[in-house]
Amino acid sequence: MFGVHEYKCIKGCEGLQGENILDYKKELIFIKNVPFSCIAERIFYTRDMKKIVQMGTHVLREQAQHIEPSKIKSQEIQKIISEMHESLETQNDGVALAAPQIGESYQIFIVAPFIFEEPEKEHLVYINPVITKRSKKTQWMHEGCLSCRWKVGEVKRSLIATVHAYDVNGNAFTQSADGLLAHIFQHEIEHLQGILFIDNARKLRDMSQEEINDVLNGR
Ligand SMILES: [Zn+2]
Repeated sequence: MFGVHEYKCIKGCEGLQGENILDYKKELIFIKNVPFSCIAERIFYTRDMKKIVQMGTHVLREQAQHIEPSKIKSQEIQKIISEMHESLETQNDGVALAAPQIGESYQIFIVAPFIFEEPEKEHLVYINPVITKRSKKTQWMHEGCLSCRWKVGEVKRSLIATVHAYDVNGNAFTQSADGLLAHIFQHEIEHLQGILFIDNARKLRDMSQEEINDVLNGR
């Protein structure tokens, strides 16, 4: 995805293109073949990158469509999955994303690789996910959503959740998780049912400008 981005250098080098990108951390882009101190700022994304839709958009309130397992490897579904990965990567605080959040009413959610120590060993794509078991033990957990900028609140979540889903290759699997991943399962599967965290949150509030800046600055 880096090859097609366009960047501007905050020190004034104009017109740098994505193929110069060596690596990136949060919103800062380090440019290869230019002075080491030259740090570019991402100013916009590819023209076809899907924007993350915001509350008030109808697709977020729909029951997302089930995908025939035999269609998972189709070009259409694989394209949606890569668009989801691209969109999620643009969000400093994004740990997961559901397909309706890029305007696609399908039962898919993805998880950001950075939450795992060894992402290559983990499932990052969940298709037709269903929670088959959840712990009775619950806790009010701090929560926000990329489609409910910039709100936070607390939602009662089960501490452990088991999901049955299909992976990116169309293979069925079952997975139990606790901690952040269990939390993600519950939030994302609600997205696929047209539910947003604000529907069930307590202590719902707008984030302060300082908190928003911390997210934008990757802190
Ligand atoms: Zn969300």
